[in-house]
Amino acid sequence: MNYKFRVSLTENSRITSLDFDNIPFGKVFTDHMFVADYIDGTWTNLEIKPLEYFSVHPANLAWHYGQSIFEGMKASRDEEGNPLLFRPELHAQRFNASAERMCMPTIPEDLFVQAISNLVAVEKKWIPPAKGSAMYIRPFMIATDEFIGVRPSNNYKFIIFTLPVGPYYSRPVKLKAEETYIRAAKGGVGDAKTAGNYAAALYPTKLAEQDGYDQVLWLDANEFKYIQEVGTMNIFFVIGDTVITPSTSEGTILRGITRRSIIALLKDKGYKVEERPLSIDEVVEAYDNGHLKEVFGSGTAAVVAMVNEIKYRDTIMKLDHESYKIAKLAKQTIDDLRARKTEDKHGWIVPATAENILVS
Ligand SMILES: *Cc1c(COP(=O)(O)O)cnc(C)c1O
Repeated sequence: MNYKFRVSLTENSRITSLDFDNIPFGKVFTDHMFVADYIDGTWTNLEIKPLEYFSVHPANLAWHYGQSIFEGMKASRDEEGNPLLFRPELHAQRFNASAERMCMPTIPEDLFVQAISNLVAVEKKWIPPAKGSAMYIRPFMIATDEFIGVRPSNNYKFIIFTLPVGPYYSRPVKLKAEETYIRAAKGGVGDAKTAGNYAAALYPTKLAEQDGYDQVLWLDANEFKYIQEVGTMNIFFVIGDTVITPSTSEGTILRGITRRSIIALLKDKGYKVEERPLSIDEVVEAYDNGHLKEVFGSGTAAVVAMVNEIKYRDTIMKLDHESYKIAKLAKQTIDDLRARKTEDKHGWIVPATAENILVS
């Protein structure tokens, strides 16, 4: 179905004040946003308009009881500057899975994708031209009922805003395997992209930072034995010639779209890739035997982040990220696809076009 969006464009674009060679991360927003309201059981007031504040009642249910979900995506551009999306329908599906878990309304997948497509097309001049730059896209949904008492909201807002981001030269990260705190337990909300998961991770992450580490390597909640994921990244290990990433079937790990794409691309290239439970002991043993070749995280923001140290109890595993081959190949392959430099055999790249807009 084709949705119609009302569009009002700003006459005072802020783009002229942006230094494309020096974009501070996470602080510069583009001119417009997409907004829709869920009222009386339907999505309505579909609109692209100048980014603005909106007022919320102090008893807003999202603030008190946490009905808040989000997605994170990136738009890239081809050589001619045409904006491109990467597997947007998977983000729509995951958004809806998060919505169902949090008792929030789903959004028709085509509405989600068209909203992003149109907004990105309107904002395409904000996609920085430099290699490795992109426009970060943040779709989210919050409850909007004003009510004190725990129940699902009746009304919601779905909003998408975007930010230009410079080339993400991610430095290697050091991880501390965590044995006191957990990120997610079986039956919990670990596979939903919901706000509370990130608030719960702040304190253990702060402790890891005080210990000289960048991020927590989460272990499972039952035995503190099986590796889960890291911050906002899934994790891969290369042991011998096998690429291993923890399986997501228990629902305690966020089902990353980068993770899924890397698995498919590495399999295409003939690598042996396993999705299975992976214990920290197996990783330590591989390290001791010299079989642990690479460790890297995967997520939309960095695509791939090399890991050069893991601490588990008294064991400190140091790795030479400069020597990584598979991590670099995975990143290069995805970056090339997103810049349309290689053939998109899987049909993952979707041009962002402004098609259904009603300029008002
Ligand atoms: C978003 C996220 C990821 C990565 O997912 P991508 O779809 O690859 O960006 C991994 N773990 C957590 C906890 C996340 O929130």
